Amino acid sequence: MKPLPKEFDAIAIERKWQKKWEEMGIYRFDWEDKTRPTFSIDTPPPYPSGEFHMGNVLNWTYFDIVARYKRMRGYNVYFPQGWDCHGLGIEVQVEREHNISKRDLPPDKFRKLCEKLVEKYIAMMREGVIRLGCSVDWTTEYRTMNPEYWKLTQLSFIILYDKGFMYRGKHPVNWCPRCETAIADAEVDYEEREGTLHYIRFPLEGSTGHLLIATTRPEFIPACVAVAVNPVDDRFNKYVGRKITVPIVNRTVEIIPDENVEPSFGTGVVMICTYGDKEDVKTVIRHKLPVVNLLTQDGKINQNGGKYAGLTIKEARKAIIEDLKAAGLLEKTESIRQEIGVCDRCETPIEILELPQWFMKTRILTEKVEKAANEVVWYPDYMKTRLIDWARSLDWDWVISRQRVFGTPIPVWYCKNCNEIIVAKEDWVPIDPKLEKPKIDKCPKCGCKEFIPEKDVFDTWMDSSISCAVHAGWPNREDWRRLFPADLHPSGVDIIRTWAYYLMVRHLALFDEKPYKSCLINGMVLGSDGRKMSKSLKNYVAAPDVLDKYGTDAARQWAASGGATGSDIPFRWPDVEYGRRFLTKLWNAARFVSTQLKDYKVGEKCELQLLDRWILSKAE
Ligand SMILES: [Zn+2]
Ligand SMILES: [Zn+2]
Repeated sequence: MKPLPKEFDAIAIERKWQKKWEEMGIYRFDWEDKTRPTFSIDTPPPYPSGEFHMGNVLNWTYFDIVARYKRMRGYNVYFPQGWDCHGLGIEVQVEREHNISKRDLPPDKFRKLCEKLVEKYIAMMREGVIRLGCSVDWTTEYRTMNPEYWKLTQLSFIILYDKGFMYRGKHPVNWCPRCETAIADAEVDYEEREGTLHYIRFPLEGSTGHLLIATTRPEFIPACVAVAVNPVDDRFNKYVGRKITVPIVNRTVEIIPDENVEPSFGTGVVMICTYGDKEDVKTVIRHKLPVVNLLTQDGKINQNGGKYAGLTIKEARKAIIEDLKAAGLLEKTESIRQEIGVCDRCETPIEILELPQWFMKTRILTEKVEKAANEVVWYPDYMKTRLIDWARSLDWDWVISRQRVFGTPIPVWYCKNCNEIIVAKEDWVPIDPKLEKPKIDKCPKCGCKEFIPEKDVFDTWMDSSISCAVHAGWPNREDWRRLFPADLHPSGVDIIRTWAYYLMVRHLALFDEKPYKSCLINGMVLGSDGRKMSKSLKNYVAAPDVLDKYGTDAARQWAASGGATGSDIPFRWPDVEYGRRFLTKLWNAARFVSTQLKDYKVGEKCELQLLDRWILSKAE
């Protein structure tokens, strides 16, 4: 045997073996092997953001350790790799990079720009996964933006439509006025911002008195449909049932009793607008109040705003405050810290708009989600509470349509005459209704021969939330149930409310079975100062820098020894340096052995000594 070189050249050795592994195909899943037990990993297809960061190093190391361990234990391990391409994030980047809006280009041209950007990012991230030495089966690689994958998303939609889980409805949704699309609860981030509480006089009808209401959103006055007080609040309950005038628009509305009004907030009298916030939505439903839509899709005041029509929300707020002041109706203002919802892609404050959308009935599944979550083995165990709490906290069904371009098309048309919904049949997919007509001659209801295509696309989570079944081979392989449910679903603390949850509801609805048997949660990687790692905080460490400096194994050792599953871990250079020193020791030991084995020929039989046997027994 040739003695090992003195220096451990990590980069050269890594490259050599990464290439060799792929040539030899040693990480391929063996579909023909029916003897070894299988172990399937539901690798979350990452959203190609372009950067393989330290967070990726942490979570890929976690599940690669599991894959390698299981292989050594004799399992036939299935470790697939896909890319979750669609979504608002890529669109926002394309808009920024080209300084355009989605409206400026025909959808197919805009889509092409998105695809190009995604391909660039996938190449960068694939390089990261390979460099990290992940034992992925690359023959399984897929992209959710390809029509072969659309087919699966569309098929799952059609099956769930037929089962009664999918419906089109007009319901208030979270709306990003910059991205001009509906977004799901899971895509809303909450931020604390400084706001202003305005105390405004609403004249009581039939008397000279007034009630003082406090609001942070005076621009919604034109959409005020009621004024509410708490029925147990003795200061105001005598006014219940009386009429009050909404200033500026001079419309009268009723004073209603509502137990959710907080007597200690503001003045204890609130205006109910359609819709200033989510509470308004609940109140409107509870009291069956009328709805005055006030906003356009790009966040401007519409014709219902009268003289304020055409103004942006900000401009309208300013104008209305000026008019209230001039009329002597603004009593005072106070600054207030408030939590507001913002779009998680562009940080624009979200609004609530009522538009026809597609929904999945998810709330009827909450009990099943809870039962399944209790059957799953969680690492760490307490993470299951996060999933259950999230499922229980949801007020609305999942809005699955997006008014965007870069997504899987919703395979639906509407009859031009009677508006009948025509959902594609299972054997029509993949299909883009914008380019193809439904494969029927006439509307089954009225006989009309013209159809209007659905222009909306699916939420990107509609693609990725079927990964457990898709990885297992559904619907193309007859034996897909062999790898379903997945043995392991790796996830991050930050995506339990999306990934872990959407996987649950979709697979429970489709197959009445939980999608994964165990869930391994990684925490977030923090900067060395313990704060969230970010370029603006100057505590950001790029993964390639770490791998270049100390080699992959040292970085993996940092991830492995960094702490418990589910916990955030800080990135510290000394931890990686320690990993490197440890590996050097291992190298030196191996090198020492190799010098003693100069005369040994590989494959040659030799007699093992007691010490050899002891070492081998420990390595079992
Ligand atoms: Zn946005
Ligand atoms: Zn019709």
